[in-house]
Amino acid sequence: MNFCSNCAQKIIKKIPDGDNRQRFMCESCGQIYYQNPKIITGCLPLYRDSVLLCKRAIAPRTGYWTLPAGFLEDGEVASAGAIRETLEEANAQVKLSHLYTLFNLPHISQIYMFYIGELIDLDFSPGEESMETKLFLESEIPWDKLAFPVITLTLKKYFQNRERNSYPFTEEDVRAGLNGEPESPLLNKSSAFPKT
Ligand code: ZN
Repeated sequence: MNFCSNCAQKIIKKIPDGDNRQRFMCESCGQIYYQNPKIITGCLPLYRDSVLLCKRAIAPRTGYWTLPAGFLEDGEVASAGAIRETLEEANAQVKLSHLYTLFNLPHISQIYMFYIGELIDLDFSPGEESMETKLFLESEIPWDKLAFPVITLTLKKYFQNRERNSYPFTEEDVRAGLNGEPESPLLNKSSAFPKT
């Protein structure tokens, strides 16, 4: 953003009166343009002993497997966003149980939230952003073909928790370059990708 959407004057970066951080603001009319983290909401869709994964048909990480997830929309409740993304990416209907993982990715100002969800039936198929959707047993998970660290971490946690049949919520920080994978996500290509 270079120009003010109110008055079309140039936008500068400065600390507004009463603030302690630099913001983008219009020097002419005083409008402040705050930048805040993006929230990505998604689902860990389960069916008996299996997990539903989607093979990405879009960049970044085309051809890698992911859990259904995407940016929360304005005015949307986080759990409803997880249900919507599961429907959009896998044409699958889930009944959510609870918020399971939250990942802070402060280096790219993103927060990921995954809910545990139970597939209502076996009626699923690739949505627009997926080239394949498939149920995986633990022994079948394509660990070296997962799209993002937050996916790997959520799946690992799930299979560990399953041994105790206890699935508590956890929050975790994910920093750049974990496991040498692209540090994230989904669609914010300008800031997150590519970094090779
Ligand atoms: Zn202005």
